[in-house]
Amino acid sequence: MNKALFLDRDGVINIDKKYIYKFNDLIFTDGIKELIKSAKRKSYKIICITNQSGIARGFYKEKDLKSFMNYLNQSLISSIGYELDRYYFCPHHPDGIIKEYSYICDCRKPATGLFKKACNEFNIDCKKSIFIGDKLSDLQAADSMNIKTIYFYSTANIIYENQRYISINNIEKVKL
Ligand SMILES: [Mg+2]
Ligand SMILES: [Zn+2]
Repeated sequence: MNKALFLDRDGVINIDKKYIYKFNDLIFTDGIKELIKSAKRKSYKIICITNQSGIARGFYKEKDLKSFMNYLNQSLISSIGYELDRYYFCPHHPDGIIKEYSYICDCRKPATGLFKKACNEFNIDCKKSIFIGDKLSDLQAADSMNIKTIYFYSTANIIYENQRYISINNIEKVKL
């Protein structure tokens, strides 16, 4: 079985500017590229799991997300020679305005639908895997999957007092 470095997107891979899809809004967080590179060299699958309710809310479309992710991957390749192995996104939200996406799904974190799909497709052993998120809903989803190491990344000095989560304010503190 494989091990994975699961990453939330907004606030972890890139700075969270709320509902971003424009290429100009892509700013990588400090240390994330180096972490991805090190993890690839240690045979981790790099898998992004992201809630993208901006699609249900009508802020952008699936094709915009896909273009943005292609751009993100191309940026990674040109700077570190690696890209995400895959990204999984939830376009839904119960309060959306686009009917086809506006319902309670089983893939919006803290639900685990996207993680389960990733684990099946990549034959991932969660007991050897790492997750980094910046919201409690991320951590809860990772916890439900029994992911071995769960990091809460925040530069705002927010700490979740829970033995399951490791609070960090710098990506360099992630141990592979
Ligand atoms: Mg986030
Ligand atoms: Zn969903």
